[in-house]
Amino acid sequence: MSNTPLSALQKTQLMKLEKKLRRHVGQAISQYNMIEDGDKVMVCLSGGKDSYAMLSILMLLKESAPIHFDIVAVNLDQKQPGFPEHILPQYLNELGIEYHIVEEDTYGIVKEKVPEGKTTCSLCSRLRRAILYKVAKNIGATKVALGHHRDDMIETLMLNMFYGGKMKAMPAKLVSDNGEHVVIRPLAFCKESELIQYAALKHFPIIPCNLCGSQPNMQRQNIKKMLNDWHQEFPGRIESMFTAMQNVVPSHLCDNELFNFSDINSNSGVINGGDTAFDEPELNFNGSAKETKMPTNKTEQLTIIEVQ
Ligand code: SF4
Repeated sequence: MSNTPLSALQKTQLMKLEKKLRRHVGQAISQYNMIEDGDKVMVCLSGGKDSYAMLSILMLLKESAPIHFDIVAVNLDQKQPGFPEHILPQYLNELGIEYHIVEEDTYGIVKEKVPEGKTTCSLCSRLRRAILYKVAKNIGATKVALGHHRDDMIETLMLNMFYGGKMKAMPAKLVSDNGEHVVIRPLAFCKESELIQYAALKHFPIIPCNLCGSQPNMQRQNIKKMLNDWHQEFPGRIESMFTAMQNVVPSHLCDNELFNFSDINSNSGVINGGDTAFDEPELNFNGSAKETKMPTNKTEQLTIIEVQ
């Protein structure tokens, strides 16, 4: 851990940011009932900014929470070349919390199984998940906490829509693939930009994530860039998208599994506002199509075409 002292201004920034992150994490925990009295929460620590922040905020919340829960940090040393083995034990010893460093050579397996030039992340993540679930079982963890944040969730939604033909993001809480664990994402309401700032102010000893030599997922990088561009051009759009993810109206989508469209008839009544979502037509009697700007929120307008 770097001991470079913070300036008075940085200390104030850190205090405010920490308060905000605590609020966001607290809200996510409460909204999705992520942590209950008596839980043993296994915090998966990769050495990246997000998992350090998650551990730090959960430790703060543990001190003030009205319930009791335990925290155990777990890092998987995947035997990537150049992995600085001393960093996490040193950091965690300084924190004085229970932790486990699990050594498994998934790097070797991935290199052996995946042909040169092909993306390795998919197999690597599957192996990592399986190992972490096994560790959770061995240490008696009741919850497995992952450090994905709000922007990861929105990017995943866009990725699935653009490339997978699904409206599916990353859940804030789910049951693990093997059906045995409850996985939680306490940073679900935290913005990545705030986590970057927090990591810098806290001087987390970041371990680079590309030691394996894998190239970044270009599709995800492109989505990230698109969302960042939107954020610059239309402030508030990303927030609105995340609010939308918590405000789904199945009757106004097209999935028969989610909503029984077949049984709608003239006796069904108006469902979820009917077709009035954006109905504030500006009357135009010249019989032509007219572009109308209608405010959807304080910062953005949606353009619709009226044909009259
Ligand atoms: S970047 Fe490397 S370590 Fe990370 S998931 Fe991909 S293959 Fe695994």
